[in-house]
Amino acid sequence: MYDYRCEYCEGTVRPKKVKREAFKHKKGFVILEDVTIGVCDACGSRYYSAEILHTVHDIATGMKPFERTEEIPVAHISQ
Ligand SMILES: [Zn+2]
Repeated sequence: MYDYRCEYCEGTVRPKKVKREAFKHKKGFVILEDVTIGVCDACGSRYYSAEILHTVHDIATGMKPFERTEEIPVAHISQ
């Protein structure tokens, strides 16, 4: 699933299990917990498998049930 050449550098994309990862979808944000993503061992770029992206899409569009919602802080930068 991972272990391929990074698109941005000479590094290799390695699988990494993360506690939680936030995804931006045009319908809103989705957070997946205990998910294995790809991380470049040189530049740190993050890669997501088709399965992850499909899951995010299905949750964001209401096709797949989710476990809970969390509030996200919103602010403007003060000038
Ligand atoms: Zn890289």
